[in-house]
Amino acid sequence: MSAFDVDLFVIGGGSGGVRAARIAAGYGARVMLAEEYRVGGTCVIRGCVPKKLMVYAGRFADEFEDAAGFGWTVEKPRFDWATLKRRRDAEVTRLEGIYDANLLRAGVEIVPERAVIEDRNTVRLLKSGRMIRAERILVAVGAHPVKEPAVPGIDLAITSNEVFELESLPERILVIGGGYIAVEFAGVFAALGSRTTLLHRGDKLLRGFDDEIRDALAEAYGQRMDLRLGRTLRRIERRDGMLCAQLDDGSDIRVDQVLVATGRRPNVDGLGLDRVGIDTDAAGAIPVDAYSQTTIPSIYAVGDVTNRANLTPVAIREGHAFADTVYGGKPSCVDHRLIPTAVFSTPEIGVVGHNEAAARAIYGKIDVYKARFRPMKATLSGRDERILMKVLVDCASDRVVGVHIFGHDAGEVIQAVGIAVTMGATKADFDRTIAVHPTAAEELVTMRVPEVTKHPVGVG
Ligand code: NDP
Repeated sequence: MSAFDVDLFVIGGGSGGVRAARIAAGYGARVMLAEEYRVGGTCVIRGCVPKKLMVYAGRFADEFEDAAGFGWTVEKPRFDWATLKRRRDAEVTRLEGIYDANLLRAGVEIVPERAVIEDRNTVRLLKSGRMIRAERILVAVGAHPVKEPAVPGIDLAITSNEVFELESLPERILVIGGGYIAVEFAGVFAALGSRTTLLHRGDKLLRGFDDEIRDALAEAYGQRMDLRLGRTLRRIERRDGMLCAQLDDGSDIRVDQVLVATGRRPNVDGLGLDRVGIDTDAAGAIPVDAYSQTTIPSIYAVGDVTNRANLTPVAIREGHAFADTVYGGKPSCVDHRLIPTAVFSTPEIGVVGHNEAAARAIYGKIDVYKARFRPMKATLSGRDERILMKVLVDCASDRVVGVHIFGHDAGEVIQAVGIAVTMGATKADFDRTIAVHPTAAEELVTMRVPEVTKHPVGVG
């Protein structure tokens, strides 16, 4: 008879926790998983999935406009928020059911309540008061959006959690932040017809991305919305049934909703980490080693609560690697160095590898291949937009160390390019790949001449 009720207790039913639980159970482990809200976590319930459905909804606006150049007559289209919300929510519920079913089929016991750590091998369930003894505990509790900056009236703003609950499309919305979430939602609301202001404290959006991609995004967004860079929020007040946001330059913006998207913080409050002596880092995250093990050998953590790379596919990989390592006899860790990613702005951004500044700092001498062109579709639609593609090559090894795409379907394209870059493709490999014509992506394999670049003094 085991001294434990279960082999593994997973706290959190999001991307990382669900994958770890399923794979561990598949190896024969007795697994229990607690989720206090809805199985599926941020990504499925109030993140990537419903967001992408809204991105799709917004993009029809461009399609209707563009159709005229191809001979179509489109009556003035009307958008109904309630229909989108109802259908989107139904899809999320369907996916939640699939997550539930997959866990149950794998033999995982799901407990729908909040769980906290009691000691190194015990979890307490808050609603039922049950104590569960577990040989190992996996913390996969994710993160939550913050309401910052902490200015007067910030509580009047909503976050990316509440945005999915809005019952109507705001006529006017102010989005604050310059990261993934702010950029994506500002794009969605502008496309759906809200008069949208995007306010960011920096002089460029999307810190960490390639500067030219950031400039291209600012140019496109400047045409699609009221973009205010280098400005900060002073206060928000309710006036005459509207929200009035005051900026540092003294200007006022009157809107129906303010959405703050200024970052997320790990969900560690009240989790019981102090009871076992796990200290969080400066960002409030749980430090772990390459195998996602904390300083307490029986406790592991994966996903956003560890603040490594806060992306769904990374959490899934971390959860899978944990289960392979601990229950599958296959020690595995996740390589966080090369992560293809996409921002679902319109136009979209896809990236794998280093940005130009970082590549220069790391490799010294790099070649930059660049294509900036009007997409073929825009020739007839008349839409004023450009695609930008950059391929960065380390001169010493000929390896492609960064690919950056700004344009339609960049997310789809970068996933495939990511395979080549992960395999260590060289520029010569790109060059010998035959183009698919006519596509935008063919530019990636037809760029022959690098930009004339000044290499830093002392290099090369
Ligand atoms: P990010 O950390 O990406 O961006 C936060 C933004 O808010 C930055 O522009 C930052 O500015 C700004 N900011 C931070 N603090 C303040 C403040 N006090 N006042 C004003 N501005 C502030 O967070 P997000 O919330 O956008 O996204 C969270 C995570 O979710 C990301 O790390 C991302 O990995 C993930 N995500 C991924 C998606 C995808 O893969 N497509 C989609 C959505 C989310 P500054 O740059 O100056 O610091």
